[in-house]
Amino acid sequence: MVERTYESIRERITRFLEEVEGPVSAEDIARTFEVDVPEVYIHLEHIAKSVRRESGGGKALMMTPPMCRKCGYIFKDLEKPKKPSKCPRCKSEWIEPPRFLIRSRE
Ligand SMILES: [Zn+2]
Repeated sequence: MVERTYESIRERITRFLEEVEGPVSAEDIARTFEVDVPEVYIHLEHIAKSVRRESGGGKALMMTPPMCRKCGYIFKDLEKPKKPSKCPRCKSEWIEPPRFLIRSRE
């Protein structure tokens, strides 16, 4: 039962990310679907894989990388969708979260 619930919310988040006009943060998704932010990141990780698989590589979950608001450092090499807690360059915790949407690959 639990897994089915997750499946359906993942489908709803997937459709939301396909239809959204501009990239949205996990916080936006959490608010829209009334779930916790850490849960959204888990869903995004699974959505990234399922979108790629189901579209045969034609579509992808795109991520605008998180950025340090203090020094402008960009977290380019993230393996997973997440919001880093601290900037490695200036140690600031004032981090602009990553943003997501689903688009066809050019
Ligand atoms: Zn910084």
